[in-house]
Order: sequence, then C-alpha cells, then structure tokens
Amino acid sequence: MSYPDVVIIGGGVVGCACAYYLTQAGVRVHLVEKGALGSGASRAGMSHIVTWEEPEIHLHLAKESRNLYQELSQVLPMDIQYRQTGSIAIVEQPEGMASFGETVRRLQDWRVKCQLLSPAELNAIEPSIAPDVGGGAYFEEDAQVNPLYATQAMACAAKEGGAVIETFNEVVGIECTPDHTRVTAVQTVRGRIPCEKIVIAAGAWSGQIAQMVNLEVPISPRKGTLVVTAPVPEDLFHCKILLAAGYMDSVREGASSGVAVAANLQQVKNGNLLLGSSRQFVGFDASVDPAVVSAMMKRNLRFFPGLAKVTAIRTWAGFRPYTPDLLPIISAVDSIQGLYIAAGHEGIGITEAPITGKLISQIVTGRAPDLPLGVLSLSRFNKTS
Ligand SMILES: Cc1cc2nc3c(=O)[nH]c(=O)nc-3n(C[C@H](O)[C@H](O)[C@H](O)COP(=O)(O)OP(=O)(O)OC[C@H]3O[C@@H](n4cnc5c(N)ncnc54)[C@H](O)[C@@H]3O)c2cc1C
Repeated sequence: MSYPDVVIIGGGVVGCACAYYLTQAGVRVHLVEKGALGSGASRAGMSHIVTWEEPEIHLHLAKESRNLYQELSQVLPMDIQYRQTGSIAIVEQPEGMASFGETVRRLQDWRVKCQLLSPAELNAIEPSIAPDVGGGAYFEEDAQVNPLYATQAMACAAKEGGAVIETFNEVVGIECTPDHTRVTAVQTVRGRIPCEKIVIAAGAWSGQIAQMVNLEVPISPRKGTLVVTAPVPEDLFHCKILLAAGYMDSVREGASSGVAVAANLQQVKNGNLLLGSSRQFVGFDASVDPAVVSAMMKRNLRFFPGLAKVTAIRTWAGFRPYTPDLLPIISAVDSIQGLYIAAGHEGIGITEAPITGKLISQIVTGRAPDLPLGVLSLSRFNKTS
C-alpha cells in the first residue's frame, strides 16, 4: 500500500487550497474532512475578496490571493463565480470622513486602488445608499467568489491530480515518534494513515486538533450570522459589495465586547443578497439568535432602505477561526517535525485561501515562500513551538 506524503486535516477553502497547490507541486496528498467539503466556515461565509484589510501583511496576502483567484477561475474544472465587482465602504457620519480619509490615503500609499467619495459622488455611483450618510470610498480591485464552489473546485482539481479527498471521516489523533519530535501518522475513525507530514487546516477547530499533540494553537470560534434573501434584480444594487466602513472596527473589537454588528450587503451571481454581519464569542453554539438577526437588519436598513421590500428566505451561522492578533497562522511547528498549521484567518479566509495553499506548498516542499512568513508563524504566540 502506498502512503501519502502529506495528510491535510480539514476540507474547508483553506484545506482544499493546500491540497490543490501541494498536488500541483507533485506531493501525494490525502485530505480528511469530518463532514462534507466546505461544511465549516467556508459554506457559511459571504463572497468578498477584500484587498484593503490592514495591516500590511493582509494587503500582500489579499493581493496575491486575488491574482491567484483570477488564474484559478480560468483553470479549475468548475465555475467558481469569480468576478471583479469592486466594493464600496460607507461612512455613516460626516465627522467620520476625516479619519476614513486618512485610511484611504494610507491604503493608496500601499498601492491599493481606492478613491474617497463625497455623498454626491457616492449617490451617483450607487443610488441605493441612504442619502444622509457622510460619504465613502470605492475599492476597484475587490472581487467576489462563491466560497463553496471554490472549495469544491480546488478539491476536484487536486483529486484529478492524484490527491485522495476523503469526506465524512474524522481525525481523532495524531501519532508522533516516542520522543515526540516528529509526526508519523493520523488516526481517524476509519483507521490510521501513516505519513511524514501533516497540515492542520481545520479552521476554528484547529486548536482542538493541535491539542492532540499537546500543542497550544490560539484559535477560537468567532460566530457570524448571515441572512439570505430571495433573488433581486441586478439593477437594485449596482455595486455588488457594499459595507459600512465601521465594519473593520467590528472586526477589531475584542473578545469581551458581546455582539459586534455592522452592515454588509453582497449580491451573489444568482441574484440573492447575503446580509451580514455579526461577530460574537459563544463557543461552538451554531443556533441563530433572532436578536442578532434583528440588529443586523436594522444596520443594513439604515444604509440600504430599499431592503424593506426584499424577502429574507434563510439564516445561518458559522465560525470564523479567530486569532488574538487577527492574523492567520501559516507556519511549520518548530518543535514537531512534519507538522504545519494553515488556519486562523478569521473573517478573511475566503480571500486568503489560495495564497495560503501556495505558501504551505512552498514551505512543505522546502522552497522559498513568496512572502516573508515570520509575522504569521506559530512561534509568535508560543515560545516552545
Ligand atoms: C458569516 C461569515 C461571513 C464571512 N464572509 C467572508 C467573506 O466575505 N470573505 C472572506 O474572505 N471570508 C469570509 N468569512 C471567513 C471565512 O469563511 C473563513 O475565514 C474561512 O472559511 C475559513 O476557512 P477554513 O478552511 O480555515 O475553515 P473551515 O471552512 O471552517 O474548514 C475547516 C474544516 O475542518 C473540518 N474539521 C474540523 N475538525 C475536524 C476533524 N477532527 N477531522 C476532520 N475534519 C475536521 C471542519 O468540518 C471544516 O470543514 C466569513 C465567515 C463567516 C462565518
């Protein structure tokens, strides 16, 4: 029997990107997913490929990833509904424009293509926005993808390249050498898979998986709730991604602050609107709280009054993989040879999945990574890793 070189734990958008790029690099991959592909955050997420989230490392990851999505949309065996839509961030109060203007100028210095908009300019581009807002900005390079299709398409391409993609099988243990310095196998409910290398790409569950080898990986679930509407005409919202500029503040709010809510509207290719967003720390409780839905809808109606005539058809919740510094972990584990982490992307994992997969394929195969990875290392949290 032949064994894989690498076992990937988790079949979300990040794990499937790792499977795709490792397979492209000639590595024999076996991906193990406890449910269906994308059944974690990747199925629950929206569609925004956001190219302007700070700090600077996010800007690099997002830009590279957006370019990779462009390529992937041409070569993957399924349509991933990628399209360059641009996005508009809206500032609610006129007094908020000074500090948002500084953000936009800083982003322009980093070569993000964006443009500050007065209320009149905003209204000319997007008449659906409430007229009494302070202004906003247009980000022309932002794009959209269907995260579930991207997950499935990358897995499908990896499979065509020889990878084993195994769903509905749960990893229950990781085996190491007796001195605990090197991985040797993954234990699953269906049996043992010997291997030399393991990539933990289990999103919000990655901390639990790391515990199997007594490793501290500070990733916790940050719940997000979403409302989906019936399809609406394409001309109701000209720009397909509209969000409150305060959304970025809701991302940065800490663990103790209850529910953070911000308006975020995205129209997907088949016409439905996705309405977010919320952030809260409630463990793995996936129930949808009507009070959170109501708070989200209030914020969306504040910016997009035309929504009052639109019918909501579905709600759900998913778990963003949160790290305390809001940066992903794309890293080898120094203390255990053959163990790697690709997780912790919080609300930007759909955006950053392709570059994460590519970087993991580079470090697993001993090639120089396209981006410096020190700031994304696990050792930034854990001196003993
Ligand atoms: C409401 C919401 C909106 C979002 N919108 C956006 C957006 O517009 N743009 C953006 O870039 N990001 C967005 N995100 C964030 C994005 O969805 C996540 O960052 C991303 O999906 C994380 O992908 P992942 O593969 O790391 O994790 P997941 O998709 O959670 O995948 C991890 C997988 O590991 C599996 N797993 C866990 N334990 C085991 C085990 N023991 N054995 C085997 N498998 C296991 C799980 O079943 C799961 O499928 C949003 C998230 C939410 C919740």
